[in-house]
Amino acid sequence: MLIKFPKPLVVVSQCLGFEACRPDGELFRSQSVEKLSRWVNFIQVCPELSLGLGVPRDPVRVETHENGLRYIQQNTGRDITEDLDQFAHSFLDDLPEVDGFIMKSRSPSCGLRDIAVYAGSVPVQAGTRTTSLLGELIASRFPDLPREDEGRLTNYRLREHFLAWLFAHAELREAREVGTLHALIQFHARHKYQLMACSPKRSKELGHIVANHDQKTPQAVFSQYEEALGQAMKVAPRLAANVNVLMHCMGYFSKLLSGKEKRYFLETLEDYKERKVPVSVPVGLLKSWIVRFGEPYLEGQSYFSPYPEELASVVGTGRVRKPGRKR
Ligand code: SF4
Repeated sequence: MLIKFPKPLVVVSQCLGFEACRPDGELFRSQSVEKLSRWVNFIQVCPELSLGLGVPRDPVRVETHENGLRYIQQNTGRDITEDLDQFAHSFLDDLPEVDGFIMKSRSPSCGLRDIAVYAGSVPVQAGTRTTSLLGELIASRFPDLPREDEGRLTNYRLREHFLAWLFAHAELREAREVGTLHALIQFHARHKYQLMACSPKRSKELGHIVANHDQKTPQAVFSQYEEALGQAMKVAPRLAANVNVLMHCMGYFSKLLSGKEKRYFLETLEDYKERKVPVSVPVGLLKSWIVRFGEPYLEGQSYFSPYPEELASVVGTGRVRKPGRKR
């Protein structure tokens, strides 16, 4: 089945391959962002350029002062806290409806987390980390949207989940543009197993919302659903929930498989439970049966195709960078 994926709209830090706007005039290359560029539409942002600080420029750092955290240019001591704050508000006020955010790791002006705090010229002890003003506002205004920094996206598990959430949100946005409950029901049906894997509890809640026993307007149902979807997809699928979903899906083929094939699948599932193989191994077996027996319902499930195949890759560190590493 050929799945037509919508193009998510993603806010991205401009120095991640778009413009040489870092303080030293460098461009930063992010493979994750590069790879995505064919599949998403980007809205670029560079708060420091937008404030007219120019390139090259005096770098900004976060300092702790009596009146709280201040965003200061290191050499001149110029305090740009209020300017950054104003910029963050006006930038987000003017945004169209977006599906997610990819920001430069540890940037004092647009990072999402883990930004070093200085006392004078000395970094405050490890453990005292903060976020940028833009990052903070993104988190409070868009709690139900996927947001990641480019450093964490080098971890393929985090990247997989980010992409699944991003494309799911873009699909939901498209369904909302159609505006009918039927479009929402179709969305929910396609994502049934993906949601069960992320959060069995929330997936039931989403089912109740779609059922719309209170006869709400489609608009109200979509809003409620979108919020609950964000909550459900906040967490990447866990082992036990994946096993449950895989067993459910195997049930579709139980009458069609030989005893040997079933045993092999169950052994593979045991290997997955014992963390000897990744989830992609039992998923791959199921996919081969979907193709062999032609199972259209499963073939359309986002659990088996959450985003364009071309974006799939296990390349990456498999680890998240430790706090405190240089940005
Ligand atoms: S990290 Fe943010 S503020 Fe700094 S150059 Fe990149 S986009 Fe601009």
